Amino acid sequence: NPALTKIGDQMSNLTGVRAIMKDIVETLQSGGGQDLINLSAGNPLILPEVEQLWRDATTELLASSEYGEVVCRYGSSQGYGPLITAIAKDFNQRYGLNLTERNILITPGSQTLYFYAANAFGGYASNGELKQIVLPLSPDYTGYGGVCLFPEALHAYKPTLDIDAANHKFKYRPDFSQLSVNENTGCIIFSRPCNPTGNVLTEEEVRKIAALAAPYNVPVLIDSAYAPPFPALNFTEMQPVFGDNIIHCMSLSKAGLPGERIGVAIGDEKLIQVLECFQTNLCIHPSRYGQAIAARAINSGSLVQIAEQVIRPFYQNKFTVLENTLDAAMPKDLPWFLHRGEGAIFAWLWLKDLPMTDWEFYQLLKKVGVIVVPGSTFFPGLKEDWQHKHQCLRISLTGSDEEIALAMQRLAKAVTQVYQPT
Ligand code: PLP
Repeated sequence: NPALTKIGDQMSNLTGVRAIMKDIVETLQSGGGQDLINLSAGNPLILPEVEQLWRDATTELLASSEYGEVVCRYGSSQGYGPLITAIAKDFNQRYGLNLTERNILITPGSQTLYFYAANAFGGYASNGELKQIVLPLSPDYTGYGGVCLFPEALHAYKPTLDIDAANHKFKYRPDFSQLSVNENTGCIIFSRPCNPTGNVLTEEEVRKIAALAAPYNVPVLIDSAYAPPFPALNFTEMQPVFGDNIIHCMSLSKAGLPGERIGVAIGDEKLIQVLECFQTNLCIHPSRYGQAIAARAINSGSLVQIAEQVIRPFYQNKFTVLENTLDAAMPKDLPWFLHRGEGAIFAWLWLKDLPMTDWEFYQLLKKVGVIVVPGSTFFPGLKEDWQHKHQCLRISLTGSDEEIALAMQRLAKAVTQVYQPT
């Protein structure tokens, strides 16, 4: 084995869900004839209208004189000009902003963007002090767990819980009595809508977080991978929030282009410049083919239209199927709570007082042909012990209606059995 550095050792280990994926792949491969319903993946389904949108944009690109410039030449580190212009124009019109090209950076997927930000703003400052990467509401996206070269910098906060016991529903809220932002804070990151919970922080909550960060010039990265205007995977009304210290981060992945790796950062010119230099050092620039077709789909308005008319209703309906099946099949007298489905492509189920760990329950569900993701992987940076961490499951909405309904019926049966006093 090669001798690895501390960073090499850490970066060659998989974190969170990626580690569990290995177990899932092995289960699927060894599953034989068993009818396993796999609701673990975060991989979006291929929707015909969405695939057609990208196919049409590609056809146009191939026929245009632009093609050679796109694939046969290096470009600017900031991203492909026509995509940057398209986003600036669209956002200025849609949200009444005054963005110029200098406020926008394109990255190879948004995961990369969090890597740049986590290491440019978090970690050890030149005076040796540790700058924290604050996750104001845990659980949150498991991928934040792997982006820091100095993992000790990651610091997540426990939320408060809004519980609607009669209806078996709940919602997380940031705990402002605990959340601390100060001179040791490097940056703040959260997803809105949230993967894994489907939570959408209210505009008031977002503004409160940004206001706490402003006096210390702390950038607030709002991970909008599921937000409007595309992929528009919000099931509740929400508007993006912009501000001097806010970096609005987007991804084309849930709008049908995960394979092309396109992330977008929108924010203050000085912050964007820092991230751009990081990118030059890392990879020169993101690949341009995906950017060129994205520019076309944004300019024509078809991306937003398909997001609102196809992508959003598709997943919203899946959530309804899941919610209705659980309401009908789950025992009324047990303390189970489904997180409010406000967006994204997942449901989040809390099994309070579960008499085993989430990992054990995940294993048990596999035996009845259902694969979900144990919730404990979604608390990166949360150092304190908290029973709740071991009582949740993430259920992906990427199955057929029938699969989702059948899986939830099987899950309800398993829940009834495990809570039974022995
Ligand atoms: N942020 C969130 C909340 C996600 O769910 C994902 C992917 O699942 C990402 C970021 C990373 O997406 P990408 O790198 O494909 O843009």
